[in-house]
Amino acid sequence: MNKELSLAQIKEAVDEAYKEFKGNTDGKNADYIPYLANIDSHLFGIAVCLPSGEVVEAGDTDYRFGIESVSKVHTAILALRQYGADKVLEMIGADATGLPFNSIIAILLENDHPSTPLVNAGAIAACSMVQPVGDPVLKWKAIVDNITELCGSAPQLIDELYKSESDTNFNNRSIAWLLKNFNRIYDEPNLALDLYTRQCSLGVTAKQLAISAATIACGGTNPVTKKYVFPSEISPRITSMIAAVGFYEHTGDWMYTSGIPAKTGVGGGVMGVMPGKFGIAAFAPPIDEAGNSVKAQLAIKFIMNKLQQNIFG
Ligand code: GLN
Repeated sequence: MNKELSLAQIKEAVDEAYKEFKGNTDGKNADYIPYLANIDSHLFGIAVCLPSGEVVEAGDTDYRFGIESVSKVHTAILALRQYGADKVLEMIGADATGLPFNSIIAILLENDHPSTPLVNAGAIAACSMVQPVGDPVLKWKAIVDNITELCGSAPQLIDELYKSESDTNFNNRSIAWLLKNFNRIYDEPNLALDLYTRQCSLGVTAKQLAISAATIACGGTNPVTKKYVFPSEISPRITSMIAAVGFYEHTGDWMYTSGIPAKTGVGGGVMGVMPGKFGIAAFAPPIDEAGNSVKAQLAIKFIMNKLQQNIFG
């Protein structure tokens, strides 16, 4: 396991995975948000970014899709940058909830225990922490700037998605106010909720996500822009959070079968971090019952297996 990798091997594995799963028609687009239901379900892209900054790509890697829950990783990094690892642990936590991404019960069960910035409750809490507290314009700028640095290029807000999400985010509104009830939100709840909804509505490409995963894998320096983004001690912290809860209540199965910490989003994106080796992202809109892209999961597992890589050695 964990062989040294050549660019040619990675290209071969990515191309094979693309060919193997391109025709797969399992799953269906997320339908709880109208915008997502209408995206071309045939879109499929895979990108791998190496520490050298080289990016291996197959398929629709330049198509901008809704980042959705993958953005929780980026804003967790921002909270870690602004507050440090101990404060984030104290104010949000780093535990798996074992429950779906938007669980209300998890908040009730864990109101005085740690949660994680990688489920909705913790992600909304992370948005509330973003500095400067109380200033929606500068907070939003901090969120977008952070994602831009991680991806090496700017994301773009998908207005229609933002409108769709804002009109239907009743569950998340409840989460924001329940957090307020337990003193686990650190800015005005509606403000934090709106920032969370907006960050989920950012359009990114599979290539951008692969680069941001590679920035994590490379200890906080973006391998493409060569720019320092965050202190290296944040990398193992955020990767451990992804490993613990990146697939929500299915994270154990995912880690067991794939061997790579990865974060999903209902927009069809999955982003995986292989520390020191590479960042990988795959995108395809049809998702399974748990809200995870069917083809993206298959492609990443195939590539990990083909390259004989596994974080557990
Ligand atoms: N915006 C979505 C929500 O909070 C993101 C969900 C997801 O990608 N799992 O409901």
